[in-house]
Amino acid sequence: MAKIALITGASAGIGEACAHTFAREGYNLILTGRRMKRLEDLAQHLNNKYNIEVAVSSFDIRSREQVINNLEGLPAEWKKVDVLINNAGLSQGLDPIDKGSYDDWDTMIDTNIKGLLYTSKVVSNWMIANGSGHIINLGSIAGKEVYPNGNVYCATKHAVDALNKGMRADLLQYGIKVTAIHPGAVETEFSEVRFKGDKERAKKIYEGFDPLVAQDIADTIWFVASRPAHVNINDLIIMPTAQAAATNIFRK
Ligand code: NAP
Repeated sequence: MAKIALITGASAGIGEACAHTFAREGYNLILTGRRMKRLEDLAQHLNNKYNIEVAVSSFDIRSREQVINNLEGLPAEWKKVDVLINNAGLSQGLDPIDKGSYDDWDTMIDTNIKGLLYTSKVVSNWMIANGSGHIINLGSIAGKEVYPNGNVYCATKHAVDALNKGMRADLLQYGIKVTAIHPGAVETEFSEVRFKGDKERAKKIYEGFDPLVAQDIADTIWFVASRPAHVNINDLIIMPTAQAAATNIFRK
């Protein structure tokens, strides 16, 4: 029977690249995000190309009710999830603490921390019932360092780092693997979302060096997911060659 991967935030960027990679490897997929049309088009494409089954579930991960109702509403056969990729996340704004927007803070905390928690609780219970599983959490270099004006985004990714360690400890007894992937700069919609649609400002982030691309992260996630049963990669930082630390980028 084909394995199943559940990918949150599969409508763009890293999540979408993971969907392609796991489909190529023969997984059936549950794809989530808010933009239903994108998810449906992706599902159709992957189904045609790889002959896999894809379930699409569109909801706002910030809503506890929506997460629980949509995931628990899936048919029983879809709850045999082998790999959960907790990828949905975002940054909003880049302001000092005295000027930050309350709404941006709420959005980041509700998406990156609470959304990840709601999803993990539901799916870890399925994994416990199934007797195995692997949870892969998308942290960030912002979860390892704090840079000027990164305050709340960095705090949410530090929380993901802590939750990754907590899940690893709690799920150890069930044989469930837990991994965090912490990327540096990846060129996706991420900066456009951070700067609320300001494409010019977003473009500047990636100027003068070769950033990572979403497929680099999907390849890394596939590597950690495809280790033998007795191997767990706890934590992994992946950076562009030109980036040594969050704010140390060598630009030509
Ligand atoms: P992206 O291209 O902007 O994709 C983000 C995904 O998250 C989208 O599919 C989006 O789907 C989903 N999402 C956001 N808010 C959501 C919500 N409220 N409910 C449901 N889904 C939501 O960004 P990305 O670069 O691929 O980011 C993926 C993950 O990697 C994030 O956790 C991010 O923090 C992390 N990361 C990114 C970078 C980077 O430089 N790009 C570096 C380190 C870590 P909808 O809009 O359709 O809902």
